[in-house]
Amino acid sequence: MGRSYQITEYCHRFVKEYITEGDCCVDATAGNGGDTEFLCRCVGRTGKVYAFDIQKTAIEHTRMRLKEAGYIERSVLFQAGHEQMASYVEEEVSAVLFNFGYLPGGDHRIATRAKTSVEGVRQGMELLKKGGIMSLCIYSGKDTGYEEKEALLNFLKRLDSKKWLVILNCYYNRENNPPLPVFVIRLK
Ligand code: SAM
Repeated sequence: MGRSYQITEYCHRFVKEYITEGDCCVDATAGNGGDTEFLCRCVGRTGKVYAFDIQKTAIEHTRMRLKEAGYIERSVLFQAGHEQMASYVEEEVSAVLFNFGYLPGGDHRIATRAKTSVEGVRQGMELLKKGGIMSLCIYSGKDTGYEEKEALLNFLKRLDSKKWLVILNCYYNRENNPPLPVFVIRLK
């Protein structure tokens, strides 16, 4: 079977190297639960995954998916914005996933926004343990626009390089605003 180069699979392959059984992780944009399920698989029976989404439908879809996969016990789902993450999660985490934009199959007008996304990233970074990773799938163009991408990239560019490693990937030869996979690794 060939490898998938969809943005989420690409990020998963990278992120899983940073997670070991028993770890805590955060899915900052639960959506239909694909990323939450992936994290639950990585943390194993003794780990924990906190997942956030502002939409009830997203939380319901995620809960259903995790139940079917047998992962509900290792997950905690919050119908809340990731910009409030710090008031819900107390543990250090080894990975935080952001997959920005709108719920696939849902209302495209309910999407992540520049201001809350930057704040969510900031709070997620604070939760990361040394050697932990944050993955960001950033979209732009069409009904998404460019404001969120620009705000996130501006924020990431200014991070202290002694403390954070920021890796920007790009689908260099794809046209029409390809998604942008970004990794942020805590060095100390
Ligand atoms: N990770 C998901 C999956 O595997 O199916 C896909 C996520 S989808 C592209 C983006 C999600 O972000 C939507 O479900 C949307 O409701 C959610 N969202 C929008 N603003 C949010 C916020 N401030 N905090 C948390 N989730 C938010």
